[in-house]
Amino acid sequence: MADETTTEPPVLSVDVEALTALLDGRHADIRRTVRELLPAYASVLEDAEEMTREEFRERVKDVVLEIAGTGAVGMGFPTEYGGGGDLGASIAAFETLAYGDLSVLVKVGVQFGLFGGAILQLGTERHHDRYLADLIAGRLMGCFAMTETAHGSNVQALGTVATYDPDTAEFVITTTTPEAGKDYIGNAARHARVGVVFAQLEVGGEGHGVHALVVPLRDEEGSVLPGVRIEDDGPKMGLNGVDNGRIWFDGVRVPREALLNRFADVTEDGTYVSEIESPGRRFFTMLGTLVQGRVSVGAAGVSAAKVALTIAVRYSLLRRQFETGADDGSEQLLLDYGLHQRRLFPRLARTYAMHFAQEVLAGDLHDVFSGLNPDDDARRLLESRAAGTKALSTWLATDVVQECREACGGAGYLSVNRFAALKADTDVFTTFEGDNHVLLQLVGKGLLTDYASEFSDLDQLGTVRFVAGLAVETVLERTRVHQLLEQVKELLPGGNEEWDTDTGLLDPTYHVAMFRFREEHRIGGVARRRQHEAALGDRAGKMPAPPVDRRRAETRHGLVGGRALAPRRQHAARHPRAGAVAEMRGTLHHLDGHATRGELRRTGKARDAGSDDCYDRSIQR
Ligand SMILES: Cc1cc2nc3c(=O)[nH]c(=O)nc-3n(C[C@H](O)[C@H](O)[C@H](O)COP(=O)(O)OP(=O)(O)OC[C@H]3O[C@@H](n4cnc5c(N)ncnc54)[C@H](O)[C@@H]3O)c2cc1C
Repeated sequence: MADETTTEPPVLSVDVEALTALLDGRHADIRRTVRELLPAYASVLEDAEEMTREEFRERVKDVVLEIAGTGAVGMGFPTEYGGGGDLGASIAAFETLAYGDLSVLVKVGVQFGLFGGAILQLGTERHHDRYLADLIAGRLMGCFAMTETAHGSNVQALGTVATYDPDTAEFVITTTTPEAGKDYIGNAARHARVGVVFAQLEVGGEGHGVHALVVPLRDEEGSVLPGVRIEDDGPKMGLNGVDNGRIWFDGVRVPREALLNRFADVTEDGTYVSEIESPGRRFFTMLGTLVQGRVSVGAAGVSAAKVALTIAVRYSLLRRQFETGADDGSEQLLLDYGLHQRRLFPRLARTYAMHFAQEVLAGDLHDVFSGLNPDDDARRLLESRAAGTKALSTWLATDVVQECREACGGAGYLSVNRFAALKADTDVFTTFEGDNHVLLQLVGKGLLTDYASEFSDLDQLGTVRFVAGLAVETVLERTRVHQLLEQVKELLPGGNEEWDTDTGLLDPTYHVAMFRFREEHRIGGVARRRQHEAALGDRAGKMPAPPVDRRRAETRHGLVGGRALAPRRQHAARHPRAGAVAEMRGTLHHLDGHATRGELRRTGKARDAGSDDCYDRSIQR
């Protein structure tokens, strides 16, 4: 710990260069570029405190446009339009930008991630040619208008309608009720000239579900166009440099080509065409392409946690309280208190863990979207991991910022020390890009779907062996804890015989095995409980008990909403034996060497869950 006779921070014994290289990972260059940019905009942090809301919005817009000029925020777009052609780098740039002012960050996210991302992912060449170069350079500001006052998480129930008129080959955009007005839309209140608007598509009197269209909102001078009504959302808890607003449409006409038609189109004579037949699958495929936003917000949450921890740890290495008892009357450094360490170190460790989880996720995103890993399973896994990681990272940020604020005492409360802005600006990270609770239910649904699908993959002999294994396991589990540990030892490198308790704790493979065991054990437990409930009578949608703790809830009751259980129940109804097996099941690990879920996948036995409608793994906002 620090030398107590000095007020200087202690000399660190870590190899800073090596640690930086490790943390910067494969996108070290872009991270360095953005880090070097940030000091030039440090004054924005003070502007947020001192300027009026209107002034600050303009200031933030100017900074975003300046940064756009450097090319640092267009990394995810194709090079032929002026982008960097590297999606992974664009996440790294965004993550690094989050060390600075978060209104700037979120406005970047709205313009390049949400608006630009929708044009890129949902549009085709005609949209790319028309919009990408201008939006990447910041010449065309836009917004992403999905959420409505009445519907945020449940996007499939949106009330805005786009009706095709074959006489003029146009879509007519209408807000059907006041509550169907778009709400919270970033860039809408002041700066967006166009919006990617999500609406129910109606062609020839038939509804085809939610689709996205590019709709002009303002002219070049910034005046709102006829048929469009826009209102300011007003002051917010934070992020006041972003102009969020509401939008209503009254019969606004846009040409047929305004439909972002990568997954579905309407011919001139009014025929709806799509290669994806199932409307549900089409909708979730569309939304799945927008997963980048979710990955980005999670990354920003981790960065905010790093900023808070940096401030709090440094403070605790300078600040002294209460005499140590030494003759010289010196006082104790805060970080030398065990209590202070217990408040900061676990959060520091979790933040490192989430950093590396984000790094893996961003790598997966890059591989899937760059075509390096076109596998359908990889895409589904990415969507599920993005949902889970976003929830955990943003809740981590909320928790870390609060604890670090308190760890700095009164000094933490002064705006100059950044916690006021960090708290206010990161708070909504848990809500936008998908409410965290709703996201975790989706993760739970995916896990239970996997669990269910394994039973139908086992052949008859496999099932018998499986049941035998489970019976043994269940008995073991219900006896003593050390017997449970015996099962865990089987998972360890070297196996049961050679396991060394000391080296195990230092072995990363051991920790991964323990986490896997815990995951499987808990999924099995949840599935069993729900199976039990189903057997007792249909109590769809009821939670077994209210979650006691939010973070525990993610792996316990809170994971599983009523809808998530439907596939499991349907499966049990069709395969009563599998249902009985599930009820007996203690864990998914098998003492006698039967396949674990991972092994099943590796041996190609796992069914393509997406091919079965009742195992639909939806991703929704
Ligand atoms: C600052 C800000 C910026 C935004 N920017 C944009 C933007 O640019 N474009 C855009 O389209 N949208 C934007 N949004 C909207 C944002 O995406 C939504 O607010 C978010 O998706 C949540 O929707 P909601 O507000 O309707 O909450 P709701 O969906 O009504 O959720 C309210 C509460 O109900 C709970 N809940 C909901 N469904 C369930 C369920 N099935 N089971 C259990 N609990 C449930 C949630 O956990 C939550 O606690 C923004 C929002 C904010 C605040």
